[in-house]
Amino acid sequence: MSLNIYQIFAKLSEITGISPMSSPLDSLLNLPGITVESYLEVEGYLCLHVRILAERTKCLHCQNLTSELNQVRSILVRDLPTFGKPVYLRVPRRQFYCRKCQKYFTEKLEFIDCRRLHTQRYEQSIYNRVQNSSIEQISREENLSPEEIQGIFTYVSNQLKKKYWQPVKRLSLDEIAMHKGHKNFKTVVSNIDSGDLLEIINSHKQAQIIEVLMQQRIEIREAVTEVSVDMWGYDRLP
Ligand SMILES: [Zn+2]
Repeated sequence: MSLNIYQIFAKLSEITGISPMSSPLDSLLNLPGITVESYLEVEGYLCLHVRILAERTKCLHCQNLTSELNQVRSILVRDLPTFGKPVYLRVPRRQFYCRKCQKYFTEKLEFIDCRRLHTQRYEQSIYNRVQNSSIEQISREENLSPEEIQGIFTYVSNQLKKKYWQPVKRLSLDEIAMHKGHKNFKTVVSNIDSGDLLEIINSHKQAQIIEVLMQQRIEIREAVTEVSVDMWGYDRLP
């Protein structure tokens, strides 16, 4: 009898109790500040149980170093696949108390953004794949819901947009189909020279693209000297 995803999750979280000081898997995993304590395979899913090496961390409020642990809970975080198997990391989320400012805070990890359940590198890879595939296809390949894939794509886009609209000389407009059947198009606006994403427009219609581009400040619009358009379904009629 095969297990459902919740049963798989419960099993992947089971404690196996081996705790070496460091593991040969650490260099393969290649994530900062953690060591692999053990691993477990359930129904083709691989789960690496990791431990955080540092005993102290900086307070998020006042930067004071503290080692006063208040509580620890473990979360399962999706990471890049290995040996053809989907991978989860069981990561301790440690809440510390800072005596100096008398506040509690949850430790910041370098490889997972706050409140995310995927590593940054996993989210980046999903984001890249959405550009060349459909949400449905990736959802099937990763065994995650289309909503989760869409959520990752939106999250990474918003992170990338923090560099948002600095003056750019050469712009590119690329059309991507978000869903099978090509009914839901988006236009990715990027800086040709740096490759930075500037904007994702929820349309591939000329009028809507122009509307969004016209919202930019005059000095940004005037800085553009070249626009490259790669849109096969581009609707030239306003
Ligand atoms: Zn503090």
